[in-house]
Amino acid sequence: MDQIECVVIGAGVVGLAVARALAARGREVIVLEAAEAIGTSTSSRNSEVIHAGLYYPRGSLKATLCVRGREMLYEYCASRNVTHARCGKLLVATAANQIPQLEAIRARGKENGVFDLTRISGSEALALEPALECVAAVYSPQTGIVDSHQLMLALQGDAERDGAVIALKSPVESIDALGSGFTVRTGGDAPIDIRAACVVNSAGLYATKLARRIRGLDARHVPPFYLARGNYFSVSGRVPFSRLIYPMPNDAGLGVHLTLDLGGQARFGPDVEWIDAVDYDVDPRRAESFYAQIRTYWPALPDGALQPAYAGIRPKLSGPGEHAADFMIQGAASHGVRGLVNLFGIESPGLTASLAIAQRVCEMASFD
Ligand SMILES: Cc1cc2nc3c(=O)[nH]c(=O)nc-3n(C[C@H](O)[C@H](O)[C@H](O)COP(=O)(O)OP(=O)(O)OC[C@H]3O[C@@H](n4cnc5c(N)ncnc54)[C@H](O)[C@@H]3O)c2cc1C
Repeated sequence: MDQIECVVIGAGVVGLAVARALAARGREVIVLEAAEAIGTSTSSRNSEVIHAGLYYPRGSLKATLCVRGREMLYEYCASRNVTHARCGKLLVATAANQIPQLEAIRARGKENGVFDLTRISGSEALALEPALECVAAVYSPQTGIVDSHQLMLALQGDAERDGAVIALKSPVESIDALGSGFTVRTGGDAPIDIRAACVVNSAGLYATKLARRIRGLDARHVPPFYLARGNYFSVSGRVPFSRLIYPMPNDAGLGVHLTLDLGGQARFGPDVEWIDAVDYDVDPRRAESFYAQIRTYWPALPDGALQPAYAGIRPKLSGPGEHAADFMIQGAASHGVRGLVNLFGIESPGLTASLAIAQRVCEMASFD
């Protein structure tokens, strides 16, 4: 049986960041990934926005790790030539009754350590983005965009340089944590058993399902889990915006916003659609509600402009109508299994926070 210090399950942006951080600290690491390539799940189905850290409650993991992770990410992208742009974002109130919410988000951002937010009037916003309609806005200069695939390739490269191995087509089927250390069993074409002192469960949408298959982990430590699809629509041709435009958030998400990719192409989304099983099909009929939401801040959106683009699925720990749950990063202090770190509910801003999450996991992991 193969023996290694640390098994990381899942080669999304978070698993790769964890593998890189562990390998950089001299740990022996293997990443077991079920798919044929890295980053084919949520990490390549998102808005690719580097969030500033405005929305999350003070002291939450989302707030702390987003703000720290954003700084780490900008530094990392610059040092590794990962394409990114600090393009800035306007959070817009499109009616007077939204101004208290706009102010509350600005105050929350400040509590989280985002000190450079500027409150501007509707006409000042219009001077920045002439196609925009709003009554007031908050400008966030630290918000940006990143090429998430380039980021993951850079993380993989660093991890491999420091000795980590990425094993594709290696779905983890079960984990035995009953003795000291772990036996990790994979399925796939060439099933293997691996002995490890440390296991990081970074399986994204499947992290809770996998945790229920860990013999030795009390099932009471595995939280309830929900899936919320976020659908995107694209617009052919250029849109008359150079910054990201976000409406007021709602209970389940940040609202149908305008993001730009690094080639300047626009996409709108994600909306929130609660689903029972992983399914990435975008229903073209959802366009109707997109037109209505987008036209609150871009009235000139032409009829027929929107095309179904793609969808991502949020791994959520709170269900419809419940308060948004925080990230859950669970180590032995919570569940009592030495060497096991579970990452649950790593939805947005998980891409922004990935390097800070990895740092946190390294602090929690144990290897004996
Ligand atoms: C619609 C949407 C928009 C978002 N927008 C943003 C944004 O703009 N900015 C931001 O910061 N964040 C955003 N996020 C969040 C961000 O995308 C995620 O937090 C991040 O990608 C999570 O990465 P991950 O590595 O945890 O999960 P994943 O990318 O899902 O990776 C998990 C990996 O585990 C593998 N796996 C699963 N089960 C097993 C198994 N049994 N054995 C082996 N491998 C397994 C999967 O194949 C997958 O590759 C968004 C999320 C969504 C859904």
